[in-house]
Amino acid sequence: MSLANLESYQRTDWQQAADRAGANIETRLFIDGEFVDAAGGGRFDTLNPATGEVIASMSAGTAADIDRAVAAARRAFRSGVWSRMAPRRRMEVLYRFADLVEARAEQLAVLETLDMGKPIADVIGEDLPAVCQTLRFMAECIDKVDGAVTNTADDVVHMVLREPLGVVGAISPWNYPLLMATWKIAPALAAGNTVVLKPAEQSPLSCLRLAELFLEAGGPPGVFNVVNGMGEEAGKALALHPNVAKISFTGSTEVGKLILQYAGQSNMKHVGLECGGKSPQLFMADLPDLGSAVAAAYNGVFANMGEVCSAGSRLLVERPIYMDFIERFIAEGRDAYVPGDPLDPGTNMGPLVTRSDQQRVLAMIQAGRDEGATLHFGGDVPAGLERGAFVNPTLFADVNNDMTIARQEIFGPVASVIPFDGVDEVLEIANDTIYGLAAGVWTRDIDKGFHLLKRIEAGIVWVNCYEGGDMTQPFGGYKQSGNARDKCIDSYKSYTQSKSAWIQLAGGPG
Ligand code: NAD
Repeated sequence: MSLANLESYQRTDWQQAADRAGANIETRLFIDGEFVDAAGGGRFDTLNPATGEVIASMSAGTAADIDRAVAAARRAFRSGVWSRMAPRRRMEVLYRFADLVEARAEQLAVLETLDMGKPIADVIGEDLPAVCQTLRFMAECIDKVDGAVTNTADDVVHMVLREPLGVVGAISPWNYPLLMATWKIAPALAAGNTVVLKPAEQSPLSCLRLAELFLEAGGPPGVFNVVNGMGEEAGKALALHPNVAKISFTGSTEVGKLILQYAGQSNMKHVGLECGGKSPQLFMADLPDLGSAVAAAYNGVFANMGEVCSAGSRLLVERPIYMDFIERFIAEGRDAYVPGDPLDPGTNMGPLVTRSDQQRVLAMIQAGRDEGATLHFGGDVPAGLERGAFVNPTLFADVNNDMTIARQEIFGPVASVIPFDGVDEVLEIANDTIYGLAAGVWTRDIDKGFHLLKRIEAGIVWVNCYEGGDMTQPFGGYKQSGNARDKCIDSYKSYTQSKSAWIQLAGGPG
């Protein structure tokens, strides 16, 4: 069933789809164009966080499997079967790949929902369309992003060639398993590299199918490999590998710092990091419309269960509108997201990804209470859903920026409202964080809006909206949110390197 037709699916259709997918789960690693067991025979369970049930026992890759996958990727790269494929042909493979993702959307969507608890409506309405857009955008770059011929003296021709890097190691998180992986593999493959992907161990299912579809689309064996396994084992081995030219990592800041160390300890590989965030939204008293601002506030922190790197988790509200803002948030935000069965297309909030994430988020909420923030709603586990890793959407007000809930990335549905007075104080609070991924600014004063956006230390600033964007948008952070930019043309370029070809001409034309 293709993506376009899935909108009409009811709960029972999705249950049948889940049963079909469940009967046909692939648990092995995907190396050199085929599914293989892990060399050491190790396994780990992947659980459905909505029910706590084991979905499958997965092959756990170790350093030996990473070696095997990198060797296959290196062979494929050096053979030129992909890296030197005619640009238009490589483009056609990626377009077919995107078409196949659409055609097999049912299976991909249901695996994603079972594995990490994301509402099925989000997977088919947002994640999978974005996966296809990413593949197509990066495919288009293949014959649009050129090298250069520079202006030199008459007896020289100087060309700047743009070449792929080699084997790219991609390490991805679980919050958007297919999309975050695609933000890496699409530009890497488009630019002619070969890839070894290590998905997050909490969500190992869907990317195996992605690799299979690439092969079916005409991608040569060995070009796109997937090795599931633990981060400290398989991920570390990939980041330390001497034959990996670049590690593209999305995940926590803590692990991002380790990846930089591994690169330094091994071969000085390129490192692209997309890490955590604690993004502020700045609601100035002169904002254009309180209703849309408040809606952006709760959507920005409750969507995807708050498991979003760019979640607007610090809501900075200017004092003249502070009470109105909170009242409206309570009135409209309390029931905007209702935890429930993620396979039901009417559900907009699933469980957190694991029971330990649920416990971590509940502990953060307790810290908020202990440190004196005012809990307006939520903070607990929804009644009747105790089997899963659910947490109710939660609103804290009267937060100050020194509290744990304002400093640490919660990665759950917890909003913190912080009052302020004036532009100087809001900038002070907004920038007082180790992170710098995103920010929102709400004002009807265009000058104030520009001044604020220029002085905010963040890679993305939205004005009078939140989470907008398209494929042209560089997505990435300042400070400890990382150094990479996904999605845009610069992302494609970051999987290439330039070669200067300086050609001395002998004699003159006569
Ligand atoms: P994580 O850092 O725990 O894990 C991310 C990946 O790194 C996983 O595949 C994991 O197996 C691997 N890993 C863990 N330890 C490793 C090690 N020692 N060596 C190599 N690899 C290792 O993060 P997570 O919990 O999966 O994801 C949540 C985090 O990701 C949040 O901090 C979130 O903000 C961030 N994130 C950032 C972006 C962005 O674009 N900036 C997007 C999504 C998520």
